[in-house]
Amino acid sequence: LSERLGGILDKLTRRGALTEADVGEAMREVRRALLEADVALDVVRSFTDRVRSRAVGADVVRSVTPGQMVVKIVHDELVEMLGAEAQPIDLNAPAPVPIMMVGLQGSGKTTTTAKIARRLKERDKKKVLMASLDVRRPAAQEQLRILGQQNGVDTLPIVAGESPTEIAKRALQAARLGGFDVVILDTAGRIHLDEPLMVEMAEVKRIAAPHEILLVADALTGQDAVTLARAFDERVGITGIVLTRMDGDGRGGAALSMRAVTGKPIKLVGTGEKADALEDFHPGRIANRILGMGDIVSLVEKAAANIDAEKAAKMAEKMRKGAFDLDDLADQLKQMTKLGGMSGMLSMMPGVAKMKKQLDGLDLDDRLLKRQIAIISSMTRDERRNPDVLKASRKKRIAAGSGTRVEDVNRLLKMHRQMADMMKAMGKGKGGLFGGMMGK
Ligand code: GDP
Ligand code: MG
Repeated sequence: LSERLGGILDKLTRRGALTEADVGEAMREVRRALLEADVALDVVRSFTDRVRSRAVGADVVRSVTPGQMVVKIVHDELVEMLGAEAQPIDLNAPAPVPIMMVGLQGSGKTTTTAKIARRLKERDKKKVLMASLDVRRPAAQEQLRILGQQNGVDTLPIVAGESPTEIAKRALQAARLGGFDVVILDTAGRIHLDEPLMVEMAEVKRIAAPHEILLVADALTGQDAVTLARAFDERVGITGIVLTRMDGDGRGGAALSMRAVTGKPIKLVGTGEKADALEDFHPGRIANRILGMGDIVSLVEKAAANIDAEKAAKMAEKMRKGAFDLDDLADQLKQMTKLGGMSGMLSMMPGVAKMKKQLDGLDLDDRLLKRQIAIISSMTRDERRNPDVLKASRKKRIAAGSGTRVEDVNRLLKMHRQMADMMKAMGKGKGGLFGGMMGK
């Protein structure tokens, strides 16, 4: 695909603009990539529609080719759809917090149960009890017991002849009596979705009232991913998804399908058979994999860098002209929070020691940046463009609106003045403070 999409991108470059036809052509390739990655057909359709509407007429910044722009939009949309932020397992409930694992047979429930238990024990210092509710396969309970032994995690003693709900009750009671923080219920699966499985899962859920119900699914799941995720979500109600076998050569399209039909977050990713092969979900990585190309990453990074550079250049121009207003300052502050605060930015600049002294007077840690952004957001448009109108009563209003004090507002205004002056002075020299910092 890399080559095919590359070809399309070249064509776009030559035409130099994002018309509906250009985007449509690129979208046909994106569509093919998604289908090859096993994303369900419906999901592919809605995804390409979304991207198309965003891409057509998109503002293509000068230093980025239209092709790069399309790729960036596709990539960003994919990341957003996958759920931009990693969501950990939620343990915010009275102990013992019950977690229920559901999924088809062989999807990796038992393995993942042990992986999660191990992680909670080692990383979060939790006392975890695991219980196998799989009474269908003779060796299932023994499998979990051995995994527990290997990883130093307690398992519920096996009692022959119990039903899954009986085991669940006993597990909860044992967890309470034993002072456990978390109890993980590993359930039985079936090779295919069927009614008895759903009934059994619903019963266990009723008994255990799990705080998390995690659907475990193989990353290689193809078009079935939608049916699977929908069935478990409708009948049992899942709170998250664990994608296993991401160490295989599956492209992980199931992640997008399941996320799209359930809206539930993908919380964890299994990357091997061993008990430590469990990772947090990184939407960017899966997006790259679904698009099926390593080059995409560098393309996207380059595009993003170019977009930033273009913004920085515009900013530098404004500074030179002395037209640096509070809107621009807010933009800069937001950039800074992205880059790890002022000290993070300064450390990336050559020859900064001299200037650091001047800047020391300016209080610039991360929390402060956020407060300053809040102050600017509480101003009217006119005030942001022309801070000179800010007299005492307006300052009071702004302080109240942003949950700060008038002194804070004054400090921000002073900082803005200092920065604007300094930038104007530097701008006359070599490209401006931020232009120099982010330009290349
Ligand atoms: P269950 O039937 O859902 O409980 O599935 P199991 O946990 O018993 O796993 C079935 C098989 O898949 C076992 O051989 C596991 O070692 C393997 N497995 C589970 N998770 C992963 C994973 O993330 N990567 C790989 N490569 N194998 C896995
Ligand atoms: Mg199992």
